[in-house]
Amino acid sequence: MSQVEDFLSQKEEQEIVEAIRQAELNTSGEIRVHIEATTELSHYDRALEVFKMLNMDQTKAENAVLIYVAVTDHKFVIYGDKGINAVVPDNFWETTRDVIQNNFKNGNFKQGLVQGVLKAGEELKAHFPWDEDDIDELPNEVSIG
Ligand code: CA
Ligand code: CA
Repeated sequence: MSQVEDFLSQKEEQEIVEAIRQAELNTSGEIRVHIEATTELSHYDRALEVFKMLNMDQTKAENAVLIYVAVTDHKFVIYGDKGINAVVPDNFWETTRDVIQNNFKNGNFKQGLVQGVLKAGEELKAHFPWDEDDIDELPNEVSIG
């Protein structure tokens, strides 16, 4: 997937990882980012598939969220687990989506993901605050495939 690497240098990838770490200081929720070039599925279906592939449906409070990006398709999906959907309003991810969309529109790919991850952490904080017993249930990595 050289196309993906063209979009994201190693340094930029590390900045996203750091954003995930920062975001998870706010919330017990688990945030992951998956980037790939394209998919033959609908982007929503593919996001769901990746969500399961990364075992993101296994968190105790069912409060993981995936930011899925198909780079060459210019599409992304924010997919949150059941535990989140049960307690938040329907438009919960709107602010996070707008942050990402506005950056992508201006060609700021990495910045869109960094700010989107941080925004997701802030939004989750209200419903799933971090506490000292929190476990980092999912690796703070960018998944590329
Ligand atoms: Ca956690
Ligand atoms: Ca994590």
